[in-house]
Amino acid sequence: MSPRRAPQQLRRSKSVPFVTDARATFTTEPPLVHDKAQTVSPLVRRITAANPSHMTGFGTNTYLVGNDEVLVIDPGPEDAAHTKAILKAAKGRIRWIMCTHTHPDHSPGVPALKAETGAEVMAWSNRGGLRTDRRLRDGDQLVTDEFIITAVHTPGHAGNHLCFFLENERMLFSGDHIMQGSTVVITPPDGDMGAYLESLAKVRALELTSIAPAHGYVITDPNAVIDWYTSHRLEREAQLHGLLLEMGSARIAQLVEAAYVPLDPILIPMAKRSVHSHLRKLADEGKVEGNGARGVWSVV
Ligand SMILES: [Zn+2]
Repeated sequence: MSPRRAPQQLRRSKSVPFVTDARATFTTEPPLVHDKAQTVSPLVRRITAANPSHMTGFGTNTYLVGNDEVLVIDPGPEDAAHTKAILKAAKGRIRWIMCTHTHPDHSPGVPALKAETGAEVMAWSNRGGLRTDRRLRDGDQLVTDEFIITAVHTPGHAGNHLCFFLENERMLFSGDHIMQGSTVVITPPDGDMGAYLESLAKVRALELTSIAPAHGYVITDPNAVIDWYTSHRLEREAQLHGLLLEMGSARIAQLVEAAYVPLDPILIPMAKRSVHSHLRKLADEGKVEGNGARGVWSVV
């Protein structure tokens, strides 16, 4: 794994939204840096883009897999300095580019990297301006002399979300399916909480050794984090269902006020989207009914 520091040098990682579990916010890695290659494992390097925000944490992680021939996962935002840093680290060896999904902090860096390298571009779908050379489906593999990587369709955060499983190290490139130090925002209608929980169970079954997320440090206790993600969502769902039972009916803004205490005002829009995704899941299960992001929701 990555170069490790002594446990007494544990540090709190950069603050990101919805941190509700202190355990998930500590790491033993050296600090993340922008636009410099950091060795993560014998086969993997990470370059973090300089696009920090309350949505991206310290920034979007781009991963370079392989030493002889290089696969780039998530080239990141459109950012000349970031593309330059990727090209410098890869030394002319980039052959493939894969995107976990097409949100603006993950795939807009593709065209510049493609123009410089001619690499084959692969993703689930052409969205958000992305042009693929090959559409990946669940189970599709890239087999090179050095490594085997498998696409795992993981809808939930986005309908076209893929994780990439590096068999050699049992490492999962999780994109935004799982982040380090934070839970993930599920925004309906493309975001789907029911699908998200199924996709968590799907990657749990891979018997992972580590998770390399698009945001934050490498996760070295994957099962514990996936279990916490799952229980956190189910607890939130039960809480919202309970609140609606008490209140009879409510708008999403009222549920956010009752469920998230205290909440930084900047996070309220995300909390609303998250509550909406929970309500849609409960509606799919016939437990509640309601009317979109702004309407009134009630128990059935
Ligand atoms: Zn995303």
